[in-house]
Amino acid sequence: MQKGKINVTTENIFPIIKKFLYSDHEIFLREIISNAVDATKKLKTLQRVGDFKGEIKDETIRIKLDKKKKTLTVSDNGIGMTGEEIKKFINQIAFSSAEDFLEKYKDKADAIIGHFGLGFYSAFMVSDKVDIITKSYKTNSKAVKWSCDGSPEYTLEDADRKEAGTDVILHIDKDSKEFLEESRINELLRKYSRYLPIPVAFGKVKDWKDGKEVETDKDNIVNITTPAWVKKPADLKEEDYLEFYKDMYPMQQDPLFYIHLNVDYPFNLTGILYFPKIKDQLEVQKNKIQLFSNQVYVTDSVEGIVPEFLTLLHGVLDSPDIPLNVSRSYLQSDSNVKKISSHINKKVADRLMDIFKKDRKEFENKWDDLKLFITYGLLSDEKFFERASKFALLKNTDGKYFTFEEYKKLIKDNQTDKNKSLVYLYATNADEQYTFIEAARSKGYDVLMMDGHLDTHLVSHLEQKFENSRFVRVDADIVDKLIQKDEDKGSNLPADKQIALKSVLLGPLPGKENFDVDFVSLNDTEPPLIITQSEFTRRMKDMSSLGGGMDIYGNLPDRFTLVVNDASKLISRVIDDVDKELGDELTTFSGKIEKLEAQKSKLEKAKEGKKEDEIKQEEKDEPEKLETKIKELEEKRTRVLEKYGKENKVVCQLIDLALLSNNMLKGENLTNFVKRSIALI
Ligand code: ADP
Repeated sequence: MQKGKINVTTENIFPIIKKFLYSDHEIFLREIISNAVDATKKLKTLQRVGDFKGEIKDETIRIKLDKKKKTLTVSDNGIGMTGEEIKKFINQIAFSSAEDFLEKYKDKADAIIGHFGLGFYSAFMVSDKVDIITKSYKTNSKAVKWSCDGSPEYTLEDADRKEAGTDVILHIDKDSKEFLEESRINELLRKYSRYLPIPVAFGKVKDWKDGKEVETDKDNIVNITTPAWVKKPADLKEEDYLEFYKDMYPMQQDPLFYIHLNVDYPFNLTGILYFPKIKDQLEVQKNKIQLFSNQVYVTDSVEGIVPEFLTLLHGVLDSPDIPLNVSRSYLQSDSNVKKISSHINKKVADRLMDIFKKDRKEFENKWDDLKLFITYGLLSDEKFFERASKFALLKNTDGKYFTFEEYKKLIKDNQTDKNKSLVYLYATNADEQYTFIEAARSKGYDVLMMDGHLDTHLVSHLEQKFENSRFVRVDADIVDKLIQKDEDKGSNLPADKQIALKSVLLGPLPGKENFDVDFVSLNDTEPPLIITQSEFTRRMKDMSSLGGGMDIYGNLPDRFTLVVNDASKLISRVIDDVDKELGDELTTFSGKIEKLEAQKSKLEKAKEGKKEDEIKQEEKDEPEKLETKIKELEEKRTRVLEKYGKENKVVCQLIDLALLSNNMLKGENLTNFVKRSIALI
């Protein structure tokens, strides 16, 4: 037996390895198994080129648990190592000092890598002793056993092994008992070894015999050596893609579409991406695209490699060209990675365009599920917008779908306003905005349905992209003003009547401080009162509630306009009633106010032309006193009018009806409305 000392200058490095990547201890298994895969692949290559003349009887990699001995063994039938090679390859890492080691691997705690390159030595994260029994494929080589207990000393001695290959025996330490559990190992194999290219067996297939579970002599293979993505698209059927999807995401509904990537120049990339059917937002976070390197699982954080909006897709990417041993920030500037990202972007757009062209009906059927992804892409990726604007769809309130171009044609004639601006009308809630949608449609306008998660942003985005265009929600104004084609009709009502009516109507209106009042002469067939909500403030508020960085708007109260149709007979009736009830009182108010105003303007006139020091204090104070009196009278008048409005059943009924058609009548007010309506019947 040989004894040697691993050459470390500082302390031994194993405690450092153990501490390092603490949370990621489980990756040791992937590292050991990928070494076994490499060794097997190497031997197959040597055989193919004629450098190895023997036969490979069984290439299966076997994993064995021995709970009693507390060992986990990974055995392969690969190239194996000679004693010299062990010294060279296995001891090599320890030739460097602990500082060098840390320096070399410090980046690796970084998400992506953390996983790669620690190699064989990661075994010491979970073991207090590791043995390697190995025999090289080379003729006349002897089997050897290397042992190391984590101290800088190792032993090397002759061993027994007939065929070429390697057993790595991990003596699992007491802090890592979980790795002696079959279920835990199964879980890790599922995560890290599912699609390895060499068969991996974990124990034997179990069977039921005489009511007892017994082991058969058949290997329990845990992986699929040729997963769909490594096959040629021409050799795959629709079902194969589906089957592979089910294998990756067993609990998921069938996907909408798949995209098979297959590039070998200027970089290597294979993979299958799926557009998933998403039931809820939570799911989006759970199932992710998995990144592989030659079928070895690397990570499921693919940010930077896949365009951001496509990280919501499912599936696999496999590329040996993605550098794994660098930090994430470097990854984003790597030119291969950039190329891969833009290639994926283009491929996805091409594929969608393809389906759109080939089967528009099918595309439309799936649109509602697809929409989230495409909208995300339209918003976040300029290149994708260019490509997708040819197949992205807009849906109207009839459930019909249009491309951007088609829709523009549809509304061009009827929805261009007097400033030559094309007005896109939209609704965000078909029920709540029903009255407004109907009003717009009765004018021959078309209304888009914009009720998706990202539609508030999309509306603003499209407004910037489409030339001479505006998006207006149907309830942003009365239908005549939504798309103004000629000058404002204005109101025929005299100013004093407007003042009176305004206060009467605001009387019973909850939250009246958030309302403006506007008078227009529509037809008698139009509703007497309509509540509209300014497009601008509403949209700003929506955006800020979505976290658009416009928090100042978030705290603004909603801003509404109460539009009074003075051509309505009901409004005339209210005016007449106010006249009858309060006519005299109002005349007295106006008389007094006019008189005070006359006095005030006389005093102001007298001051004109005088210099500041010629004006007596009295002359200054008097107009101010008059002004206060006027204000008081006006306020008193407002109170009288509001009180009248509050107590007038017709006024209350009209206000409530207007609120009701906007879905704004709630709680106690709604109950009162119902009671009042019953009483009126
Ligand atoms: P890496 O795999 O990144 O080169 P490792 O520390 O995992 O680093 O392994 C070091 C070397 O030891 C490998 O390059 C290989 O030559 C050798 N080796 C490890 N495991 C095996 C094995 N199962 N069979 C043959 N050689 C192996």
